[in-house]
Amino acid sequence: MRPYLVDLHVHTVLSPCAEVEMIPPLIVQRAREKALGAIAVTDHNSAENVAAVIEAARDLNLTVFPGMEVQTREEVHLLCLFQTLEQVLSWQERIYQRLPDLSNNDQVFGPQFVVDATGDFVRYNTRLLLTSVSLSVEEVAHEVAERGGLCIPAHIDRPAYSLLANLGFVPVGAQFAALEISPRCNIENLRAQHPSTAAYALICSGDAHRLDEIADRTVLTINEPTIAEIEMALHNRQGRRVRVLG
Ligand SMILES: [Zn+2]
Ligand SMILES: [Zn+2]
Repeated sequence: MRPYLVDLHVHTVLSPCAEVEMIPPLIVQRAREKALGAIAVTDHNSAENVAAVIEAARDLNLTVFPGMEVQTREEVHLLCLFQTLEQVLSWQERIYQRLPDLSNNDQVFGPQFVVDATGDFVRYNTRLLLTSVSLSVEEVAHEVAERGGLCIPAHIDRPAYSLLANLGFVPVGAQFAALEISPRCNIENLRAQHPSTAAYALICSGDAHRLDEIADRTVLTINEPTIAEIEMALHNRQGRRVRVLG
């Protein structure tokens, strides 16, 4: 086993709120500069740039997990992480069924670019992605777990679009693999103010919408960078573990 630095919450130019520099080669380059062993691509309610980032990282020492940041009916953001591209594309079909059929307004939210592995423009995603799907927090968590993925509530310490801000607590029995905090979170205060977080391990991600937000704050001690190994680390099983750097 060895330690892997990871950032499991990275946006690309498909997210309308991300900077245009968030293209596959630059994301991969920055992740390697930060000595990360793995990242996850987690655009809002879509996974259409995941394949391009995986391709950009090919033959480099960087694992790219296919993922998505889903906005639930309660306006809570949940990271959904998978092992394979097929899994995330199947999940995307499910999410697109539950996303209102509206068009994105580039002027208001920003354009949503689908790009190739070099970062070249392929097409626009014209659908409104920055909105809620008609699935609850529990439904998303359950369905992601059923599909073999990991569901991790995003930036729970933030005042908007977060589990603690919107619901006030971690629902009992929800199938979360861990909870994510943002880089400025004070863990002691969070644990003290929200005892319902006690049952879960924490990860810390950059929620990068710009290259300099890619974070190196979570260390996973695992055998290899796979979803199964990460799940073991998040549950502190068989010597696998997770640590958030201060
Ligand atoms: Zn978010
Ligand atoms: Zn995000």
